[in-house]
Amino acid sequence: MTKRPPLRDGIPCTHPNGTEMRSGLELTWAFFFEALTWPWIYEPIELGGTPGYIPDFFLRFETRVSSPRRGDDQPLLVDIKPLHNRAEFAARARELFERRLDWNREFFIGSYEIWEFDGGAVIGQFWSPEILWSPDNLIHERLWINSYAIVFDCSACGQRSIMSDCHSWHCRRCGVNSSDNVAVSFAEIKALWVDAKNRAQWERGRE
Ligand SMILES: [Zn+2]
Repeated sequence: MTKRPPLRDGIPCTHPNGTEMRSGLELTWAFFFEALTWPWIYEPIELGGTPGYIPDFFLRFETRVSSPRRGDDQPLLVDIKPLHNRAEFAARARELFERRLDWNREFFIGSYEIWEFDGGAVIGQFWSPEILWSPDNLIHERLWINSYAIVFDCSACGQRSIMSDCHSWHCRRCGVNSSDNVAVSFAEIKALWVDAKNRAQWERGRE
């Protein structure tokens, strides 16, 4: 696999399992995913595009029921960047779209902070493709819709999942879409996030 040059603003560090990461921020996310029980793979593939692109993570939710529309049997692509506001999130998404990557499913962008929305925890943004068809059944336009990524506990399987889009509580672990699902409180997710940050800092300090 082709290795990207180290980021100028990132100090490389090593996960306890031996995976070398480009920054403490990436290591923070790895610990955070583990706290949420979401299996991650670091820099899993190189996607074709102009220029090409290596996603920071894939998340595999072990969904047993696939949804062709959302492609939930596929891994979720995760892009991690230190972004400060909505405009920077949008600019990052635009940058990825303009590369015309070989990736037509949703992806997730995470940053250096999580935030509260309606009592729940937003941990980043989803960007999902929405295709507009022309009258003769050709792809007229491909739009990318963004939405908050909110952590919730599935009432069907009891596992922790992440909301697919603005209106869907479809569980990525078991495939059930239940209206009984509830967002995990911001305080609980924030505590996991702070713990992940502290662990990353501690790991970096040991090197
Ligand atoms: Zn479930």
